[in-house]
Formats: sequence, C-alpha cells, structure tokens
Amino acid sequence: MAKKLSAKAHKQHVYFFGNGKADGNRTMKDLLGGKGSGLAEMTNAGLPVPPGFTISTDVCTIYYKEKAKIPPAIDREIDENVRKLQKAAGAKLGSNDNPLLVSVRSGAKFSMPGMMDTILNLGLNDQAVEGLKARTKNGRFAFDSYRRFIQMFGNVVLEIPKEKFEHEFEAIKKSHNVKLDTELDEAALREVVQRYKIVVHKRSGKPFPQNPSDQLRMARDAVFRSWMNPRAQEYRRIYDIPDHIGTAVNVQMMVFGNTGDRSGTGVGFTRNPATGRKEFYGEFLINAQGEDVVAGIRTPQPIRELEQVMPKAYKQLRDITTRLEKHYRDIQDFEFTIQDERLYMLQTRSGKRTGHAAVVIATDLVAERLITQKEAVLLVDPDSLSQLLAPGFDPDEWKKIPVATTGLPASPGAASGQVVFSADAAVRWTQEGKQVILVRRETVPDDIHGMFVAQGILTATGGMTSHAAVVGRQMGKPSIVGAGGLDIDESARIFHVAGSTVKEGDYISFDGLTGEVKLARVASKPSTILQVIQGTLPKKNSDIYQRFERLLNWSDAFRRMGVRANADQPDQADIAYAFGARGIGLCRTEHMFFGEGRIPIVQKMILADNEADRRKALDQLLPLQRADFYGVFKSMRGTPVTIRTIDPPLHEFLPKREELMVEISRLEMAKKHGDVLDEKRKLLQRVEQLHEFNPMLGHRGVRLGITYPEITEMQTRAIIEAACQLSKEGLKIVPEIMIPLVGHVKELRDQKAVVDRVAAETMKAKGVKIKYLVGTMIEVPRGAMTADLIAQEAQFFSFGTNDLTQLTFGFSRDDAGKFLRVYQEKKILEKDPFATFDVEGVGALVQMGIRLGRQTRPDLKVGICGEHGGDPASIHFFEKAGMDYVSASPYRVPVARLAAAQAALSVKVGD
Ligand code: PEP
Ligand code: MG
Repeated sequence: MAKKLSAKAHKQHVYFFGNGKADGNRTMKDLLGGKGSGLAEMTNAGLPVPPGFTISTDVCTIYYKEKAKIPPAIDREIDENVRKLQKAAGAKLGSNDNPLLVSVRSGAKFSMPGMMDTILNLGLNDQAVEGLKARTKNGRFAFDSYRRFIQMFGNVVLEIPKEKFEHEFEAIKKSHNVKLDTELDEAALREVVQRYKIVVHKRSGKPFPQNPSDQLRMARDAVFRSWMNPRAQEYRRIYDIPDHIGTAVNVQMMVFGNTGDRSGTGVGFTRNPATGRKEFYGEFLINAQGEDVVAGIRTPQPIRELEQVMPKAYKQLRDITTRLEKHYRDIQDFEFTIQDERLYMLQTRSGKRTGHAAVVIATDLVAERLITQKEAVLLVDPDSLSQLLAPGFDPDEWKKIPVATTGLPASPGAASGQVVFSADAAVRWTQEGKQVILVRRETVPDDIHGMFVAQGILTATGGMTSHAAVVGRQMGKPSIVGAGGLDIDESARIFHVAGSTVKEGDYISFDGLTGEVKLARVASKPSTILQVIQGTLPKKNSDIYQRFERLLNWSDAFRRMGVRANADQPDQADIAYAFGARGIGLCRTEHMFFGEGRIPIVQKMILADNEADRRKALDQLLPLQRADFYGVFKSMRGTPVTIRTIDPPLHEFLPKREELMVEISRLEMAKKHGDVLDEKRKLLQRVEQLHEFNPMLGHRGVRLGITYPEITEMQTRAIIEAACQLSKEGLKIVPEIMIPLVGHVKELRDQKAVVDRVAAETMKAKGVKIKYLVGTMIEVPRGAMTADLIAQEAQFFSFGTNDLTQLTFGFSRDDAGKFLRVYQEKKILEKDPFATFDVEGVGALVQMGIRLGRQTRPDLKVGICGEHGGDPASIHFFEKAGMDYVSASPYRVPVARLAAAQAALSVKVGD
C-alpha cells in the first residue's frame, strides 16, 4: 500500500503510446517534444503508429542538473515501459526467436532537423541477430541491420569516428571484389560485424554491449548529450530556441523499409512546401531505411509513383494524410515506412514552408473552410513575410544566359554570387564583403553557419526533403538540390557542368523557383509584391500579392495597436503607406540634411560662430525642409506624421579631422596658399572645437535645440508652413513635433515654448489655423523615471528603444557588436538586446514610463519607434505594455501588422 502511494506521488516521466491509446497528446509539446506529442496524438487518432514511449524533457533537465546521472526511479519507470512495449509489439528485446528492435530518437519542443542524435536497430546483439534472421528468413537483412546498428551506436554513443568503420567496410568489399554495399552477402556481413566489434573494443576499451537494457540507457544519455553539441547550440542561437527546454527521447518499435522490394520508406507534405500549391508532395525509396531518404545519398522517386508500385499502401497513405491535415488544421510533413506492404506512420508535424507557401496555404485553408481567418492570421510566421519581399531576376536578363543544369527547386528566390565549396569559406568570404553561393555535393548539419551567410545553396545530390532543402527553405534561402549535372570535386575546389569548369570564386546564379542554374552573374529585381506596391505590376496580375493583401487585411481586423513607419523621404513614405502603415512614427529630420546639395549649407550652419551667420544658413535650409515635409505629409494622406527635431551630434555632418589635416598639409606642401587653405584651416579649427570624447552622450538631441534654438525655430516653421499649405489645398494634417533625448521636464518646457511661439507666428502669417501636437521621445532612463513630470508638457511619448537600450545597459550602439557575440556564446545574454527587446531591464523602464506618463495624462498617446518596432517578439511585449502603436521601417510594416495582430490574439494589455 505504502509503495503504491509513493508511486502515485511520483511525477510521471515516461509516456507510453501504442495499441490505439497514448498517455500524452498534442498539447504536451513542452514535456514530450514535438515528435513525442505528435506520436501520442497520432496513436490516439487511431493511425497505424508503431508502439513506443517518450522519456520527457524533464528527464533531460534532470540529466544536466544531476551531472549526467538519472535517478533509479526513472530507470525503473523506463523498464516498466519497456515491458509494456514488448507486450504491445509481441516481441522481446534480445530474444533469439522474435527480437524487438527499437529506435531511439531526440525530439525537442521545436524541430531541429538533423541537429541531434538518433540510434536505430537498438536491441540487436549476437543472439537477437539470429532471431531476426529466423523471423524474417533473411540472413542478409539481419546482419546488415546489426552492422548498421554497431556503426551507429559506435559513432553516436561511443564517439568512435565513422571512418574507422567505413575503413573496415571498404576492406571487406575489396576482399570480396564488390563495388556496391548491396552486393555483400550474409557471410560477408557477418565478417563486417566481427570487424566492427573489434573496432569498438579497441577504441572504447570494452566489448560491444550485448545487454539491450545497457544499450538503451547509453543511447538515451547520448541523445541527451547531443542537446548540447555545438551544431545544436548554433541552430538554437539562429532560431531563438532557448537552451533550457531540453529534448525528449522517443523509444519506438522499429519497422523496416528495407526488408525487400515490397518495403520502402518515404517522407512527404500534404501540400507543396515551396509554393504552397495543393498537391500531394514527397518522395520515397524502395527497400531503404528512413535515414537514406533524408541523408540525400540516393535520389528518391516522387511519391505519386508509389501508386503504381503499391496501390493499396498509397491509397491508405493518401486517406491518412488528408485526415491528418483536417485534424491538425495545417499542412503536415509526415514520415512513413512500408514493411512488407504494411503501412506505418512514423511522424507527422506542421510542415516548414517558405514565406510564399505560408501565405498561399493560409489563404487556401480559409477558402477551403478548413480554418477561420483568425487561425490563418496565427498560422503565418510574421518574419517569413519578409521573404516575399526578396528580389528575383529580371526575366529578360535571365533569358539571355543559357541554362547550365537544372536541379530540384527546393526553396524559391534569386541567388547570384561567387562559388565556394565549404561552409567555412562561405563565412570567410562573406566577412570580406563578398556574396557567395555554397556549392556542395550534399550539405550536412555542420554546414549551417555557411548556409546562413550564403546567398543560396546548391547541391548535386539529395531530394526535396534532403538536409539542404529543408534547412534552405526554413532560412528562406534560395536553394537547389539534386542538380545531378554537377560533377563536384570539393578538394580541388572546382566543378564541371555542361562542358565547362567552374572554379572557386567564379560567379554563378540560380533560380530557386525553377531549379535553373546559370554560369554568370545576373542582376536581380524587386519581388512581385514590391512591383505591385511600386505600381509597375497591376495587382490583378499577381496572385501572391492578392493573397498577401487578404491575409494582412484579416490581421488588421484583429490588431489593437496601430502600425506606423519610420520614414524620412516621400518615396519611403509612399512604400510604407502602400504596405499599410497608417502614420509615420519617426521622421528623422537630420537624414533630410544628407539630400543633394544640402551638406554644404548644413556645414555653414554648424560652422557659424555667431547667431546671425547661423540664421543665414538656416534660412537657406528652410525652403528645402518645407518641401520635404510637404512631400512626406502628402504621401501619408492625412494620417499622423511625427517629426523629430534634429538629433545627432553635429560632427556627423562635418569632414573627418584626420582627413582635413592630410588635405591641409598637402596644400601646404604644394605651396598652394590662399582662400582654399584658409578655409580648410578654419574648418579644422572648428572641427577641433566641436570634437567630443563621447559624442553619443554629448551635444546632441534636445541639447542642440536648447543651445541653438534657431534650429528648432526653422524646423518648426518649415513643418507648420507645409501643413498650412496642405490645409489650403484641402488636406488636413496634424503634425506631431517630437523633441529627442529629453531627460528633464525643463528641457522639454524650453523647447515647447519655442515650438509654440513659432507655430503661432507662422499660422498668423499664413492666415491658417491648424492643430499640432508637441511630444517627446523617451529614450534616456531619467526620462522614463520622471515620465509623470514630463507628461505635464508632452502630449505624446514615443519610446526610442535604441538609445534607451544603449543607455540602460551602458552598451555603445556602435561598438557593442564586438562583444555581444561573446555575451551570447557565454549565455550572458540570450539575444542581442538591440535586435530583440530586453523585457527585463529596458522593459521595466518602458512600463514605468507608460504608467507614470498616463498617471499625469490618462489619454497620453504612446508609441515605440526604435528598431524593435518591427520585431515580432518585441511587438508582443509592446502589446502587453499597452502601447498605442509601433513604428517600423517601411519593409517591416507587413511583418509588424501581422505580428501586432498575433500579439493582440495571444496576450492582453497589462499581462
Ligand atoms: C531610438 O533611439 O530608439 C531612436 C528611434 O532614435 P535614433 O535611432 O535615431 O537614435
Ligand atoms: Mg534615439
């Protein structure tokens, strides 16, 4: 009784599935991982799933906490599940007449294809191999399975290099005078097994473990260890997957796709993951094990051909996968094995897809009434929308060049660059500023860093679900795989194709949508979406644009926050508006000073050492600024436009001190005295006067307006005059004038007085009355901490999270890149706080700023205009913080619209 009670009090760590019933279900991804929860769900749905059990992610956490030890109670729970599994399978581990073989696989909450370890055929030993032979009446198959198992176990668990096994294998092939693995008979494979066992003994110091329970424990621990291998860690860093969540381990009865010609294995998608088109899509190999398909060693057959080979299994597969899509309400990516014509489903999960496919699938699923509009909005990863805005080739340019070869179109997009043959070279060349295409016979998970930086990925072998295809698609990277026309010599760093030789560094281009490869550099052109936005392609001619617009319109109905853009020029404002921005959250007026012919006037303004000269220069700038504001207001069609007064340190507009010194000495040496030299000397003197040790903390922002109020005056006049002019033309504009870098209410009070005075004068002079607002950026910690006082003056707040992050951490925005990578590697920071908002620290200041500001002014309008305004994870926080809008760069506006809708649907203000 006592025993029973304590067993009950124990937390469950192992979850069984089999015979139509599972302990877990699809909602348990945190605990069972994606694969484990999928297997449980599929079992519950009555699908033909081989039985097994999942060791939860909690056990992985325990494994690391207890320094690689698993408590005996968990071992006992595993043993109990092994017994259950043996019963369900009607077979026994290690049995010499009917042995049970299992696979041991990783499975984290988020899919990490190929990053962690897998062991197949576990349970085989000297006895069980004879049992397998007796059961299948196929000695060759039994010993082939055994040698595969020893090699995999030896490599993954005992960490013996693969080559040690391959070397023995090649030796036997040679001594038997055969070329192909399949030509070795049972006797030869028995020899291979013997030699492999010697390798294991010699390399690990112990005989190959014969006890299946020992094998299982060792394999389980190896999978846990692989969670922390460098490539898995790198993958998690790229995809923002936290380290602490750990992986589950799935132990499942093996089924064999390699027992002969009536067996096979395959993978597929319920829709095309590259284009989104509704078509049954995938590939299979007859007489093969699952790893053969994904490894890209043999090129598989399209799944439709299965209908001819095994019509019954094909029909069952179609029925099951159609049901799966309805059940999961999303495109499914599945794995199956047929053993002697009997179909087993091994895995199903939501399929990874390109941005293009994501939009097509979401809109199709709504049209097919499989999901609602709300579900469609939640189905698309906001970041993936930016893939749709990526460039393509100009069709005329592209047509001119002959096709060198064609491969499988694994991930769409135009890629052009210099050929490199290794991931390391890709990284090195990219750091030198080159654009590269990574060309490999096939890619492996260790290539991930090179794939990440390359313009595109091109491989000679492998199918649409090979490593290069899956990872390329996920990264939104143009990719072509299985381009069999390429004859690659990776060590000589060349490839031959269609009678040409291509060396490292030569230019090639390819189209990931058609699979065509060409031996030249080809210029690319804007995406179709962008062409519609820019008015060069009629909307009715672009199916993808119409879907893109539909999805974003749906998302607008669910979002609470407004979406504005950071734009400084009318053309940027036009694009932002067309992408759906309804307002400008930040117009950086200093960017306007870089316009053609303006820098000399700005320099005159800065160099002036008296107010009269400064005003003269400002008078010249006034009409130019007025025209800028007029253009931007017009582009935004009466939606709110926030204009920030000048912000950066003035020296940004002046020539570099060192360059001036060089010029002066050159003039002196050439004895070219006169006006030019005098000018340069005067300039150098002023540059030296203006020199600051910490310009980012120096004479910038509101401090400029306070010391040179005439600049604020000119900018106010230009803004109000432009608005008055538009008002006369019938367009009502409410300009929002924003003062940057305010930390003390008196700073704002000083500048607001200038703005109000000049605005009144200007309106009087123009005989027009318009409404305008004066507000501030909150980007200095003191500003957030005294927001109640600042709100006495400010009619709106806009959080400048770039500077606020810089000043909260004390990290220079311009220099932090150098050490932030190390911070991330050492896990001091999970993410770059300049890219993804730091909720804990900077977030606390933002919350305080909003709370204090609204305490003084309950209707205070609050937005964010730092770079985080276009980052989906950060947008979730801004929703919770109760911001009124986010402002993002024009091309991020669609991402922000969708992310803001998802945030509104998943979190609440004040959470
Ligand atoms: C900010 O600091 O967040 C901001 C938007 O201003 P800038 O990047 O121009 O300093
Ligand atoms: Mg700033």
